[in-house]
Amino acid sequence: MAVLISLTRVFSSTVIFIFTLIVSAAWCTTVSFWFKQQTNEYAQKISKGKLIARRFQNISKYFESILQDSTDIIFSVDIDGYILKFNKGAQIHFGYSQEEIVGKPLSFLFVNESDERKILSSVLLSGKSANEEIPMKTQSGTIILLNLSMSEMKSDNNQIIGLVVTAKDITEKKKLEMELVKKNELLSKLAITDSLTDLYNSRHFHDQIKRELTRLKRNPDRKLSLILLDIDHFKQLNDTDGHQMGDHVLRSLGQIIKVCIRKDVDMGFRYGGDEFVIILPDTDKFQAKVVADRIVKQYSAFKFGSTGLSMGIAEALHDESEQAFVRRADEAMYQSKRDGRARISIA
Ligand code: GH3
Ligand code: MG
Repeated sequence: MAVLISLTRVFSSTVIFIFTLIVSAAWCTTVSFWFKQQTNEYAQKISKGKLIARRFQNISKYFESILQDSTDIIFSVDIDGYILKFNKGAQIHFGYSQEEIVGKPLSFLFVNESDERKILSSVLLSGKSANEEIPMKTQSGTIILLNLSMSEMKSDNNQIIGLVVTAKDITEKKKLEMELVKKNELLSKLAITDSLTDLYNSRHFHDQIKRELTRLKRNPDRKLSLILLDIDHFKQLNDTDGHQMGDHVLRSLGQIIKVCIRKDVDMGFRYGGDEFVIILPDTDKFQAKVVADRIVKQYSAFKFGSTGLSMGIAEALHDESEQAFVRRADEAMYQSKRDGRARISIA
């Protein structure tokens, strides 16, 4: 019996030992598996972080190379106003290499000191980027017009560490725009100018007389007069001295009218053929007569054959239409013709 009991004890201790062994082995496997997993995850996280950092580095290098190689002008300036970086576009447009310009003051590139002051104070006072059309000078001394944008460059703790300037060269664009403006101005001038005498043409007369009559209606205390004049015996001069001489007389009369009237107030027009008309704002018929006398005096000094000037003067009546007003001046002019020419009649 005692042997049986001791056999049973040995057996159960063996079972317990084996069981403990199995449990320990299982626990070790689980722990080592968990540890391995954690280590793997950690390693993965580290390599992912490294990858992101590398990618970020690549992206910033990529952007830097884009900025550096851009044909647009991009440069930076430190807080004291000295040039830090000068990209390829800036080098092309200004003609300086990076080595030549880095360390030079920003004012080196400005034509006008006032432009520099204006844009700098605009950026630094508002904290926003400023945009201006500014002329700048290149290494060769040529002036280029830039559409320039300037903004603050800040550190991670929001301190201003300098300025970034981006710009587009708009010299050619502006030149073309100016040429177009000039061409349009010329076309507009041609549309209202008589090519022979350089006075305004009859189309412009009708526009201007309407405008002046409307102005008079708004302010009835004002005066408005017209002088209508026609060269006497002009056909005869054309026939005896030639058409070119006739043209010369017409041109000369155009010049006489221009110098005898108030610049930027009165307006002289070639009405057609050898007929001219003058609009005199804020002028009554007697003051208009003074102008007419002056024109006659100047014209007579030239002694153009047997020609002379027949004139008619009319002062606008209250609420008078354009047609009625011009007709009265025309009738006065014909009155001068009927009365023997080379004279002035007042309607
Ligand atoms: P009147 O004394 O009645 O005014 O007669 P006139 O000889 O001056 O002739 P009128 O005013 O009836 O005609 C104007 C002439 O002017 C007709 C035309 O041969 C001439 N003429 C019109 N335009 C031009 C031009 O551009 N150049 C020249 N040279 N002559 C012109
Ligand atoms: Mg005539």
